[in-house]
Amino acid sequence: MENKMRLEFTARSVNEGFARVAVAGFFAQLNPTLDEIEDVKTAVSEAVTNAIIHGYGEKEGMVELYCTYNGNHTEIIVEDKGVGMSDVPKCMEPFFTTKPELERSGMGFAFMEAFMDEVDVESEPGKGTRVTMKKRFGERKSEE
Ligand code: ATP
Ligand code: MG
Repeated sequence: MENKMRLEFTARSVNEGFARVAVAGFFAQLNPTLDEIEDVKTAVSEAVTNAIIHGYGEKEGMVELYCTYNGNHTEIIVEDKGVGMSDVPKCMEPFFTTKPELERSGMGFAFMEAFMDEVDVESEPGKGTRVTMKKRFGERKSEE
């Protein structure tokens, strides 16, 4: 059975925790393991933090969060209409950061890739960024 949700929130750091909890709550229906839910929460907070800090920086904006599952296949999309990236593969390299002064370590994308099965990034300078992440949860049945 398919299920979807969509959220939009202000690009402020206080909303990182909200996004984590919202995603965990939505996927609770799938009866995930603690590891699965932690993985998803970590990946979401990395993507949302990036949208806030890099996408919008000091500017105002909205972050969009879409979650879907179909059976045990989950998909999460985090989108911003911020500055975008001109070289996505470079940005996705471990330890690459454009904000070393903020003590960023450049590991956000590496974490997303480690904790999710698939991570796809679409970005255009001046237009924004969309991060699509997929993960297949364990084989337990969720609707009995
Ligand atoms: P960390 O996540 O470890 O705190 P970081 O955010 O710099 O550090 P990544 O999350 O891997 O590391 O991102 C790498 C780089 O990609 C960022 O420094 C930034 O330049 C760029 N980037 C990531 N997400 C976005 C985004 N939503 N909009 C614009 N640029 C982005
Ligand atoms: Mg990051």
